[in-house]
Amino acid sequence: MTNFKGHIKHGWYTHVITTIIILPISIYNNIPLELIISLIGISLPITLFGSILPDIDHPSSKTYRIFRYILLCTTIIFLSIIIGQYQNEIQNILSQIITGTITTESISIIIACFSLIIGMTTIFLFEKIRPPHRGITHNLSFGLIISIIFALIIWQSFTIIISQNYNIISTIILSTYLFLGFCSHLYADDMIL
Ligand SMILES: [Zn+2]
Repeated sequence: MTNFKGHIKHGWYTHVITTIIILPISIYNNIPLELIISLIGISLPITLFGSILPDIDHPSSKTYRIFRYILLCTTIIFLSIIIGQYQNEIQNILSQIITGTITTESISIIIACFSLIIGMTTIFLFEKIRPPHRGITHNLSFGLIISIIFALIIWQSFTIIISQNYNIISTIILSTYLFLGFCSHLYADDMIL
């Protein structure tokens, strides 16, 4: 069984091989060199991400532990930002229930504690719904769906941030790297080819 380091190594190989194939095709199709170079740079973490993603289903894997940490932090940050916008409303409601002065600091502490509890609950629920190891996340269709969702998000972001002629081709290149990184994981696990 390939470990985390082994999967990262396969991710690197995949990135190099994919770049060797994509580079001449892109140059032949007159895509600006500076765009190709930046896409190759951005795609490295994307390929490596794809190469470790399937092990999200293994409780003792590094991928799973990193994902849990990211999930916790993201939930806390997002909740704090969203609930923080209603700080005054919460203060008004609480002042009607509790007698005494409620300071802004105590509201912030309440929001932080609430976000932390929800964040930890989210991790707990994720552990409960986690699929069995080498199940759905080690399936080629899963990689394909993730790559399509990724492509849609990237394409949408490119369209909002920069309006240029190469949005679609850039999206295809980046999602191809992700998908091939994913495939490298299945290859290392002896699950394809
Ligand atoms: Zn695996």
